[in-house]
Amino acid sequence: MSLQPSCPCGSGASYDACCGRLHRGAALAGTPEELMRSRYAAYAVGDLDHVFRTWHPRTRPDDLAPDPGLTWTGLEILGSGADWVEFVASYERDGAPGQLHEHSLFEQRGGRWVYVSARP
Ligand SMILES: [Zn+2]
Repeated sequence: MSLQPSCPCGSGASYDACCGRLHRGAALAGTPEELMRSRYAAYAVGDLDHVFRTWHPRTRPDDLAPDPGLTWTGLEILGSGADWVEFVASYERDGAPGQLHEHSLFEQRGGRWVYVSARP
């Protein structure tokens, strides 16, 4: 039995062995789904640097500010392909539950996967 916290992305692995590797720069995402999971987990643990670093410079905001009223509570991957991931991310905002359903698009840039945008 492990005392390590499980990864917020819901993989069942420990945070350290899962998205934590990507957050601390010890590994790169091999697929859009892996990057998507790591970005969700980064929001969940408050690692906004990772969110920023993995966002395409063309589409990313100038600044990412933490949202103290928001708690991410779960991720479900509905499907993924060569350059997209469809997911539902659950959250609580000021105690009220909500869900974000998005079909995200990704690109490879300099050999690394980056998030581009939600599909319109
Ligand atoms: Zn993970």
